[in-house]
Amino acid sequence: MRILAIGCHPDDLEIACYGTLAKYVKLGHEVSVCHIANGNMGHAQIMPEELRRIRFSEAAAAARVIGARHFSIDIPDIHVTAENDQLIYDLGRVIRKTRPDLIITHYEQDYMNDHVQTFQAAFRASFGASVPHFPCADAGPVVPVGPLYHMDTVAGVGFIPTEYVDITQEIDLKLEALSCHKSQLTWMLDHDGIDFLEFVRTCSRVRGFQCGAQYAEGFRPSLNYLRLTSKRLLP
Ligand SMILES: [Zn+2]
Repeated sequence: MRILAIGCHPDDLEIACYGTLAKYVKLGHEVSVCHIANGNMGHAQIMPEELRRIRFSEAAAAARVIGARHFSIDIPDIHVTAENDQLIYDLGRVIRKTRPDLIITHYEQDYMNDHVQTFQAAFRASFGASVPHFPCADAGPVVPVGPLYHMDTVAGVGFIPTEYVDITQEIDLKLEALSCHKSQLTWMLDHDGIDFLEFVRTCSRVRGFQCGAQYAEGFRPSLNYLRLTSKRLLP
């Protein structure tokens, strides 16, 4: 299988689904990760242009930890909107290049608009990539509209998973990938008093309690025409 995970900020996929993505890679599947926002406003001291470069390299390093291909759409923070046609063409290009059998992205009701818009962008671009004359033809042939899964919200707020993935064997790899985001981890610890590695480990532990595993990640399928399947796609 080919899996494309589309997150908003450079560390969102690590938080919500990197254990599952690592598991896919271990099983021999091809995984690509793409973040829409460049994370340029996620710090008070580091200026946006420098932070943009730092966060791209942190995300690239995290992708290398699990053996995933890495893409960025490079939209400034707080400016992600599914109405941005260029964003949709660029994301459509990534979809045509990676030809995913499954897309994983944010939930429709996450805590900030950039996350919600990333879901909307993934929904729009993946349909666009199936249309022959959509303006991303240079990236390859059309990709049929296929299944889309929502990953967990931040801290699991308002999200009831319908499917779980046991990531007990992958939790260390997930946290190692998250550790690549040093600019965010030090920032959150110094200024918010949050140990984000502990935060993410605890959330994975809670999802594990819910499904009888030591550590787990939760998902929900997008219940829309052309997105449904009779197969279990999660590992
Ligand atoms: Zn985010």
